[in-house]
Amino acid sequence: MLVVQKYGGTSVGDVERIRNVARRAILARKEGHDVVVVVSAMAGETNRLLKLTSDVSKRPSQREQDVVVSTGEQVTVGLLALAIQEMKGKSRSFLGHQVRILTDSAFANARIRSIDDAKLRESLKKHEIAVVAGFQGIDEHGNITTLGRGGSDTTAVALAAALKADACEIYTDVDGVYTTDPRICDKARKLDRVSYEEMLELASLGSKVLQIRSVEFAMKYKVPLWVKSSFTEDPGTLVTEEDKAMEEVIVSGIALTRDESRFVVRGVPDKPGIAAKVFGALAERGIVVDVIVQTPAHEDGRTDMAFTVGRLDMEKTNELVRKIGKQIGAGKVEHEEGIAKVSIVGVGMRNHAGVAARMFQVLADEGVNIRVISTSEIKISCIIDEKYSELAVRALHTAFGLDKGDVEKS
Ligand code: ASP
Ligand code: MG
Repeated sequence: MLVVQKYGGTSVGDVERIRNVARRAILARKEGHDVVVVVSAMAGETNRLLKLTSDVSKRPSQREQDVVVSTGEQVTVGLLALAIQEMKGKSRSFLGHQVRILTDSAFANARIRSIDDAKLRESLKKHEIAVVAGFQGIDEHGNITTLGRGGSDTTAVALAAALKADACEIYTDVDGVYTTDPRICDKARKLDRVSYEEMLELASLGSKVLQIRSVEFAMKYKVPLWVKSSFTEDPGTLVTEEDKAMEEVIVSGIALTRDESRFVVRGVPDKPGIAAKVFGALAERGIVVDVIVQTPAHEDGRTDMAFTVGRLDMEKTNELVRKIGKQIGAGKVEHEEGIAKVSIVGVGMRNHAGVAARMFQVLADEGVNIRVISTSEIKISCIIDEKYSELAVRALHTAFGLDKGDVEKS
């Protein structure tokens, strides 16, 4: 069996922990597996490096920033290979460019284009534990690139896909994927299995266990993905293809995104090209818009447009939307902070009726007002006041049978 193991920042946070990772990798090797280990930088290191670049330059060139921030992983691969060798294991470290993890040239957020697996195969053939730097690659011009925050997950899954690994194990400081954030709901339960699609929704809705791109990669190449703790022996959560048992469960998880702000543009002319103009302008400034709702046109031929953005983008958005509102002859622009989004996610929703109605009733029973609703095939999201968000999560968790101790169907 060939396994790719990935250890995050806390798992390699100090020398003792690096030794712990070395022991785990050696154990897998002793069980007869070919082992590739991907590591992140030590906890806090990437932030420290980013700060250094911004201390030197207000607007650092992204090329040079990547040269700096990619060094965190260079340290941990070297240390881990050394730790393994100290324990009489065979090991060799590889940087992104040495494996040839080829990416596009989008510094700080590059996408992997291809991986040349020859060097790693050679190393595995010599029974070495190959230790690969996460988060980094090289573009076609030889520049060092990085894959975006949390990008080591994607390195691991991409390597697993390229090597046709039997499993990709993501070791982190939690022991798996939970039905909801256990810090909010003490009845949250660890999932044994979750489908790629559900995981994608949960990841994009703010449960930060996996980088979203890594899940997309795993889904595309059908890589069996485990989320496990590097500090316990718990089997963790398997992210895998959907099956019948998963479809029987209506809701698998509840996600919460806080710190949103909501904009409403009143009296927008109901004409082709208007939405494109408003959201095109936001996209150009790199603002990620979340839920968008447009009302049907009123009798005066005008509509209202509501949407949410993260709080960090609020100022920029406000300025821009007011400007464009004037250009297109819209009415007033309103905005408010302190908004949150709760979402229920589950592949079982596709063939069960009345799920949305149940969600709305649960929120109504708690006296929570729903401001905006949006749905997809396997998700229903409600925008509510942030102050009710934890209450809403807990009530929905109980109502949809997710509490610890409730019977688990999948
Ligand atoms: N070290 C990088 C980060 O902190 C990549 C990773 O940890 O996955 O974002
Ligand atoms: Mg991570």
